[in-house]
Amino acid sequence: MNNVIYMDNHATTPVAPEVLEAMMPYLTTHFGNASSTHPFGVTAKDAVEKARQQVAELLGCSAEEIIFTSGATESDNLAIRGIAYACREKGNHIITSTAEHHAILDACHALATEGFETTYLPVDKYGRVSPDDVAAAITPKTILMSFMYANNEVGTLNPMTDIAAVVAKHGVLFHSDAVQGIGQLPSNMEMLGVGLASLTAHKIYGPKGIGALYIHRNAPQPHSLFHGGGQEEGVRPGTSNVAGIVGLGAACELSKDYMETRTHRVAGLRDALHQKLNARLADLHLNGHPEQRLPGNLNLCFAGVQSHALLMGLKSVAVSTGSACDSESVKASHVLVAMGVPNELALTAVRFGLGRYNTAEEVDVVADEVVKVVNRLRALAPEW
Ligand SMILES: *Cc1c(COP(=O)(O)O)cnc(C)c1O
Repeated sequence: MNNVIYMDNHATTPVAPEVLEAMMPYLTTHFGNASSTHPFGVTAKDAVEKARQQVAELLGCSAEEIIFTSGATESDNLAIRGIAYACREKGNHIITSTAEHHAILDACHALATEGFETTYLPVDKYGRVSPDDVAAAITPKTILMSFMYANNEVGTLNPMTDIAAVVAKHGVLFHSDAVQGIGQLPSNMEMLGVGLASLTAHKIYGPKGIGALYIHRNAPQPHSLFHGGGQEEGVRPGTSNVAGIVGLGAACELSKDYMETRTHRVAGLRDALHQKLNARLADLHLNGHPEQRLPGNLNLCFAGVQSHALLMGLKSVAVSTGSACDSESVKASHVLVAMGVPNELALTAVRFGLGRYNTAEEVDVVADEVVKVVNRLRALAPEW
């Protein structure tokens, strides 16, 4: 693995050394339960509250508006299902889009079997929701809408403030799966205009299995999905994952410090990779918005080359396909399908996710190898 270049930072990121260092004491000497009243507990509790403050600072909110969860999948479920149950008397209609993460889509599908109505708005060819469509979809029964900040496959940013303006006008609660945006893009919750937002540590150089849900102080409290002790205001009971929470706090602080410079540097590397590939390969298709997208995202269709074959041929770089592979067949990414990418082309999509630790030398190595493997596979492809 040592000589494999990691370019899959939308799937997960490595833990930053600074984050690991902050966590270590809470995996060793400071092992207390944050609910205990003795000194071991107090030390743990203090660390949890410091981390809550660090998250709140990145989000420009107050610490009381942060609930720690096991990650964004849980935060998304808590937002969608927890709010649906909490607001049941007000209405039963939820609006989202076809390009959302499965944590949102599947939570909505589950609610549809429990008497809730769900609307899945289409996205444009870049993967964006139209604020006009949002306005048109709202009914007196609408209790919640959920649109992601940045898409995890194609990197496209939703027009968050425009959507928020529509939503505010109608007084509907707005949740965002903001996993890919928080810590990489402006992360002020008031500015984004959301009432709830999901985030997770492992996409911003923190550990896996820890995340948070932002809940605006005027938003309804979501129903807990679990029963148990009263931790996290009872919204998310369970013994606090102290080391993880400390890691999330440290990751938020780190991203705040590095956001500006890193964003430009990573976008520069991404553009360099794109240019190198474009200069040497015909028939590349960029998926997602050319400008309104995540700095590290490069999602390309290599016409004529099945993405799984390309990935198998790439020995020195770790990237991912958008498509899900089961034993019987390969299915195109639901995001690319929602964007109207033809199925055959969608099956050739590869996502490069550049991050903080990538270098210009790595971009050169990756470009050379991708060109070599694509040319080899295209030479074998009868339709090419
Ligand atoms: C990674 C990701 C998730 C899931 O987060 P976990 O913490 O792994 O549960 C949800 N939404 C988006 C957009 C993601 O990229």
